[in-house]
This record gives sequence, C-alpha cells and structure tokens, in this order.
Amino acid sequence: MRLDDLLTRTPRTLSFEFFPPRNERGWHTLEDTIEQLIPHGPDFVSVTYGAGGGTREKTREVIEHIAGSTNVSTMAHLTCVNATKAELRGLLDEYAAHGIENLLALRGDPPKGETRFAPTDGGCEYASDLIELIREDGRFATLCAAFPEKHPDAASREADWENLHRKFEKGACAAITQCFFVPHFYVELRDSLAVSLGRTPRILPGILPVTDWNALVRFCRICGASIPAALRDRIEPVAGDPVEARKRGIAFTADFCRRLLEADAPGLHFYALNRSTAVAEIVTALRESGHLP
Ligand SMILES: Cc1cc2nc3c(=O)[nH]c(=O)nc-3n(C[C@H](O)[C@H](O)[C@H](O)COP(=O)(O)OP(=O)(O)OC[C@H]3O[C@@H](n4cnc5c(N)ncnc54)[C@H](O)[C@@H]3O)c2cc1C
Repeated sequence: MRLDDLLTRTPRTLSFEFFPPRNERGWHTLEDTIEQLIPHGPDFVSVTYGAGGGTREKTREVIEHIAGSTNVSTMAHLTCVNATKAELRGLLDEYAAHGIENLLALRGDPPKGETRFAPTDGGCEYASDLIELIREDGRFATLCAAFPEKHPDAASREADWENLHRKFEKGACAAITQCFFVPHFYVELRDSLAVSLGRTPRILPGILPVTDWNALVRFCRICGASIPAALRDRIEPVAGDPVEARKRGIAFTADFCRRLLEADAPGLHFYALNRSTAVAEIVTALRESGHLP
C-alpha cells in the first residue's frame, strides 16, 4: 500500500528498518528476523540503499523477498550518490516495474574514504532535489530524513529545520529521524516545523535499540548522534557485563519510546539492524504498558 494513504489512515505506525545482507549467512539471518518480527505487526518495513553498484540491486531483492513472503507494505531507500538524474529516472522505472511504490529519498553519505559529499555531474545535490524528481515522476509516495539534533553538515539547527521544511514542501509526505536519545530534541524539531509549515508534519522517530555500549558509541560516531549523560551513566559502568548492559539498554529504549509517544509522536521506526530480539522485547514492553495498540 502507498504510505501516503497508509499514514493518513493510521494515527500511530510501527515500522522496522532492515539492510541488504552482504552474504548468504546474512540472508538467513535477515529471513529469520523478518519471520520473527512480522508477527509484531509492523505497518511497514523499509530497506536501506548502499553507496556502491552491487548493493543497489540488493535493496530491490530484499523488498521483493518481503513483498513475496508477507503482506506488509514496504519502502525502498534511495540516494543521490553516484547517479545522474537520467540514471535515477531509470531506477524509478525499474522500481515501478517491480511494484515498489514507496521511497525514502535521501542525499546519501560520502562514499567510503571521502569526507565530503560531492554531487554527481547531472545528478541531485540534495535530497530535496531527489524528492522533486520523484514528485515529477508521480508514481511514488515519498518520505525523507530528519535530524532531531542537526545534520552534521548543517550550519545550524535552524538551517537544518529550513531544509526539512523544503523537503516537505517539495513533496515528502512524512519524515523519519536519525537516531537520538533525548525526547525534547524531537519535540523542538516537530514544533518548529509545525509553525513554519502551518500544520503538524508527520515525523517518525527513528529508534536505535540500545543493547551494547561499544556498539552504541560506534553507531553514534557514524551518524553524529550524541549520547546523553542519562544514557551514558546507566550503560557505561556495566559495559563489561553484556547481560546487564543489554537489560539496562532495553529498559532505557522502552522508556525513551514511551516519552516520545506521550509527546504525540505519530509512531516509531526501529533500526532493527537485521536482528529481532531487542526490537521484539521493546515492542512487547510498549504494548504491555498500553503505549502501542
Ligand atoms: C531514516 C534514515 C535512513 C537513512 N538511510 C540511508 C540509506 O539507506 N542509505 C544511505 O546511504 N544513507 C542513509 N541515511 C543517511 C543519509 O543519507 C545521510 O544522513 C546524509 O548525510 C543526509 O541525507 P539527507 O537526505 O538528510 O540529505 P539532505 O536533506 O540533502 O541534507 C544534507 C545536508 O545538506 C544541507 N542542505 C540541504 N539542502 C540545502 C540547501 N539547499 N542549501 C544548503 N544546505 C542544504 C542539510 O541541512 C544537511 O546538512 C539515512 C538517514 C536516515 C535519517
């Protein structure tokens, strides 16, 4: 189903994000994860898009696998990296031919080894350009990325909010955030956009289940999210005890989700990282406390 329709009809959505596996073992892990998480009732799932050639077909393969084995709506991520507008239009034709109708339109990160994003000649410079290209095509519902703290390249939070405003104006029907751990960052972003757009935009918090201190530090370094003292003080002292660190991390994440939902977040988008147990535990805890239907 198209997500612009689904999101209008569903006040609070649950969604999971997967990445294309790199090898056969990864495929088995992903297949198991999908099998275990689908009974938790996601409204949609999304599949990331890699920077390099071969990984791109894999996004479509994973989407096709999910569409063929479940009834859940799917969304393919798509970036501007290493593609001219003509190539992006070709990819849209290919996606449409395979029944894909939802896209998360992103600029993408610089390829490995490069520090700054350089647009391809004849390509899209920013995600907003890609959103425009997809809107002109007319066959897809489009979502975009949002950054509760600030995108690392943005001059200021306000400049980044303007960019998100632009992405909604160009045709994004909703946004999904980068991971973050402080609820008020989300509330400030949403409320600022509500004022500038004159309506409350649909911004789904992206949730990283905290299960391991070192993995958390690594992930945050890559995506530019900060680790607040409240999280650090709970997990870092027990970093050497994986069972206790995981227990505390899951409890922190569930509590964080509750605070977001109590602040009227219109759903939760979990970075499942192709694993099922942490997400399943958090969703179950949220159902038990009445925060998810
Ligand atoms: C939910 C989610 C999923 C993701 N999935 C993937 C994925 O599958 N594959 C992948 O490679 N990456 C993925 N990413 C990472 C994303 O590609 C990077 O964070 C990237 O650096 C920014 O993408 P964007 O779409 O927000 O870019 P943009 O919206 O283009 O913003 C990039 C920077 O440019 C600035 N900017 C935008 N427009 C202008 C303008 N007109 N003038 C000046 N500055 C401007 C913005 O403020 C920001 O600092 C994902 C991120 C999120 C949050």
